[in-house]
Amino acid sequence: MRNLEDFFLEPGCSHNGEKTEKERKKGCSKPQPGSASGGCAFDGAQITLLPIADAVHIVHGPIACAGNSWDNRGTRSSSSDYYRMGFTTDLNEINVIYGGEEKLLDAIKEAADKYKPPAVFVYQTCVPAMIGDDIVSVCKRASEELGLPVIPVDSPGFAGSKNLGNKLAGDALFRYVIGTREPKYTTPYDINLLGEYNIAGELWQIMPLFQELGIRVLACISGDAKYEDVAAAHRAKVNMVVCSKALLSLARKMEEKYGIPYFEGSFYGIKNTSEALRNFAKLLGSEELIEKTEKLIAKKEEETRQKLKPYIEKLKGKKVLINTGGVKSWSMVSQVQELGMVVVGTSSKKSTKEDKERMFKLLGDDGKLIDDPNPKELVKLCREHKVDVLMAGGRSKFVAIKEGIPFLDTNQERIKPYAGYDGMIVLAQELVRTIYSPVFDLYKEPPPWQY
Ligand code: SF4
Repeated sequence: MRNLEDFFLEPGCSHNGEKTEKERKKGCSKPQPGSASGGCAFDGAQITLLPIADAVHIVHGPIACAGNSWDNRGTRSSSSDYYRMGFTTDLNEINVIYGGEEKLLDAIKEAADKYKPPAVFVYQTCVPAMIGDDIVSVCKRASEELGLPVIPVDSPGFAGSKNLGNKLAGDALFRYVIGTREPKYTTPYDINLLGEYNIAGELWQIMPLFQELGIRVLACISGDAKYEDVAAAHRAKVNMVVCSKALLSLARKMEEKYGIPYFEGSFYGIKNTSEALRNFAKLLGSEELIEKTEKLIAKKEEETRQKLKPYIEKLKGKKVLINTGGVKSWSMVSQVQELGMVVVGTSSKKSTKEDKERMFKLLGDDGKLIDDPNPKELVKLCREHKVDVLMAGGRSKFVAIKEGIPFLDTNQERIKPYAGYDGMIVLAQELVRTIYSPVFDLYKEPPPWQY
């Protein structure tokens, strides 16, 4: 495994840049007991790479690791469905004693023979890492024998958190995949999206905007991605890091090696979507494109605001508490504020200082940043502010149910897409449906046997 310290010294990360030399040397967040409880490093690596839908993803480890991470995100594919199949070497006690390398080699050969994928990803997990299985050598041998890219992802869960796993996956792409193929053709307007996983089909909400502007998404890393496209991503003219710090180091390395400029942005909300489109036009450097983009933005903003009117009437003034991942929080705050809602608080546990400043500006004096969004704190805020809806991940659902508050799932397991201008309308519809649903009043009633 590479020196993990490198992953905590990311120069492109504003969070890291704010530290003193001494603090920086200590690294970002050394793994603490329990730091993998929200997903281990292996889980994070798979979240990042599994959306490469036509590749086979083999989990080298006991079967429970594959079970832990398989199909637990709502990513969608328009072509292959290999990403929805669970491949594992299913290590047992005998393999722990004699080693699992041969079993891994056999598994790679079997998967390659049966499914003929363009590439195989192999994920290291805790047990084979502890017994010393060398997946890098096995992948190299398999690749030579099969004439197929076989990519080792050295991401044992004990290495750290899910976020570290995202970074390890980005590193595997940079070292073994990106730059290994040439695209069939290039255009002056080729771009990449980094950290967009096509959850619930969100990528498909923004693709028509790019098509209308004549911008080609050369590779989306990794939502709805094909291996060949990711391998040719080095020919893009601009990278956008979508709403996530996870692949920032990949963007920075691609800038250093291939000269691709990048920016961080979001497709949540009208303003953020327009800003992202403007940034692309500016970095692609064509006056004609800038003009075309402004026209499209004006048209789309007007259309969206018209369509939102009936929903805003119902949502205006409603109080919302948001508990999502730290980076997504600021873009979601601005998204619901555009619907006329009042944000009483939002989680900032994983946010950088820069994200927090953005949130402070958006929230004003009344909103609260929640550094530790535990159930007790959420309940307190819900009661204090008489919250109308809780927007959070599935784990917070039970807080809402016990408090009798409408709940909208906004995490990666969600089934509705909220990106771009169209996503604003979907979000508004979902919020109205949730807040005005009679079911939330019904379960505040006493059970029938108590009447
Ligand atoms: S990689 Fe390790 S921490 Fe992650 S699921 Fe497997 S055993 Fe658990």
